[in-house]
Amino acid sequence: MPSPTPVVSDAEIRQAVLTLLDAPGPAQIVQAGHPVLRQQARDFTGQLDGEELEAFLELMRLVMHDAPGVGLAAPQLGIPLRIAVLEDQWPVPEDLAAERDRLPLPYFAILNPRYRPLGDGTASFFEGCLSVSGLQAVVRRPDRVELEWTEPGGSSRREEFHGWQARIVQHETDHLDGTLYVDKAVTRSLCFNSEYGTYWAAPGIEGARTGLGFDA
Ligand code: ZN
Repeated sequence: MPSPTPVVSDAEIRQAVLTLLDAPGPAQIVQAGHPVLRQQARDFTGQLDGEELEAFLELMRLVMHDAPGVGLAAPQLGIPLRIAVLEDQWPVPEDLAAERDRLPLPYFAILNPRYRPLGDGTASFFEGCLSVSGLQAVVRRPDRVELEWTEPGGSSRREEFHGWQARIVQHETDHLDGTLYVDKAVTRSLCFNSEYGTYWAAPGIEGARTGLGFDA
């Protein structure tokens, strides 16, 4: 079933952003079940002026850092616009970084992103989402993608990503299409964070595959 488009106007979206920017305290991350996470986010077409966009991106980056997470999409703050921020500079153990092909990803913001898989290669690993708090599950995803997006300054970009970076790019762009990782996850692999930490935190998923009984 296709995701519905938001019923609010561009003016209402802008007002919602300004309200967020004025609100005291940290912005709340919207949780699964909220309709905004299931909508087709609207292309960014200048609903915010340059200063407003910059302030909104700064807020998104702060919320992502505080969570902590490696990406945040505007719908996760209740804003149905095709905007996301990505950054993965957290320290990770060497064996895990190698197994998951997890290279540091410097901060950047993407407007109106689209991705397409490159080649037939896939990778299966646990992932989680700040809007599905407390859970993780294995998702099999293309391990190489090409991402096209617009920079906040208006330039068009196209770049190839692989490994964990490709996973982040797909996860965040999927949010803008009303898709959550659980839609693509192997349901038998679903874990609460505490059980993941106790049993399945190895760099790869072989143990979980055997112990929980799934193919991926
Ligand atoms: Zn997410």
